Amino acid sequence: MNIQKSINLFQQAQLVFPGGVNSPVRAFRAVGGQPLFIERGQGPYLYDVDGNRFIDYVLSWGPLISGHAHPRVVEAVQQAALKGTSYGAPSPLEIELARRVMNFMPNIEMIRFVNSGTEATMSALRLARAYTRRDKIIKFEGCYHGHADMLLVQAGSGVATLGLPDSPGVPAATAADTLIAIYNDLASVETLFKQYPNQIAAIIVEPVAGNMGVVPPAGGFLQGLRDITLREETVLIFDEVMTGFRVHLNGAQALYNIVPDLSTLGKVIGGGLPVGAYGGKKEIMELVAPLGPMYQAGTLSGNPLAMAAGMVALDLLKEPGVWDQLEHASAKLTSGIGAAAKTAGIPIQQTRVGTMFTTFFSEVVPENWSTVKMADKARYGQFFQKMLENGVYLAPSAFEAGFMSMVHTDEDIEATIAAAAQAFKSL
Ligand SMILES: *Cc1c(COP(=O)(O)O)cnc(C)c1O
Repeated sequence: MNIQKSINLFQQAQLVFPGGVNSPVRAFRAVGGQPLFIERGQGPYLYDVDGNRFIDYVLSWGPLISGHAHPRVVEAVQQAALKGTSYGAPSPLEIELARRVMNFMPNIEMIRFVNSGTEATMSALRLARAYTRRDKIIKFEGCYHGHADMLLVQAGSGVATLGLPDSPGVPAATAADTLIAIYNDLASVETLFKQYPNQIAAIIVEPVAGNMGVVPPAGGFLQGLRDITLREETVLIFDEVMTGFRVHLNGAQALYNIVPDLSTLGKVIGGGLPVGAYGGKKEIMELVAPLGPMYQAGTLSGNPLAMAAGMVALDLLKEPGVWDQLEHASAKLTSGIGAAAKTAGIPIQQTRVGTMFTTFFSEVVPENWSTVKMADKARYGQFFQKMLENGVYLAPSAFEAGFMSMVHTDEDIEATIAAAAQAFKSL
């Protein structure tokens, strides 16, 4: 595969960006080789600057559930841009997107748009602390909730694959208020509540973990968190930045039938433009400024281009048959990969919930960060490189989710399974 232009660009990029990238995982450090520079995306395909084409299962790390450059998304953004790119004042588009989101997720009684998932979780935690007047929060080992200081503790793939368990620059005092529990382990949560009675403002959780690779919640885990948080008067935050509109049309909260107090969203709701949101119980959301005292603001929040793209992305999801097709395509891909691995005698654990999936090179069922970590990262790196050579773009790290779009065809999926069969044989 000729990647000469990417090689040249990466050299230039390293002169201006730390590590040559604007987000660490893009640098391919976890899989070896070097990043490809992308010329364009179209439907399920990425095209690099050297003209190579790849079937894309990263999809900008989840947002592009309608594929790259969907004509209706592009049209909506073009039309919005003609009317100006930002107002710094309310526009009707914000209500339109909010209504759509709340239609999908009726537990969200009030919402605030921000510009990224990081902002959403950061703000939701500030709100939970304001509401409970407590300082401590619980997060789970291996879950990632963006890069705010108090959340960069045991934070899953991006941090873990770089070998930085805690990032320098995070004040010890900030990290001290972040308590760490074990995913799928309610006893570890109970222990923390015993240790810090009446001090825990919130539990934040990925209802399906996606940032240590896809790890589904064990039966009773989410309900257990709901029971404990009700008992302790602690705010339960479902971080659905990744899972929202990916594990189920109505989010993990519908799939597992749990009502969180607050939800955080991002990725899909922006249709590929920068959007995040947090929302939930009215009684809590009423504390947000200017209605209440909890301050949170944003120059570009509710951006009209992003609102317009998000509206179309959500409308496309609602069209008849679309979600069934997404499920069908995701199931076909993961069962095909599972069968190919079996034929080649390669032990893997294939996980999937809705349109999110991971192939772990492991003999151990992934249930939490300790069991996830046992997967063979070097072997994933080899698999990744083979797939890339065969025209399939997977996440450049062993502990990430793969994503399906509504525009991947049966032929794309069959080609991917054939590539995987070849790659497994070469390992
Ligand atoms: C991606 C992600 C975030 C952070 O979102 P950004 O838009 O990258 O800031 C937060 N939480 C979860 C669960 C995510 O997957």
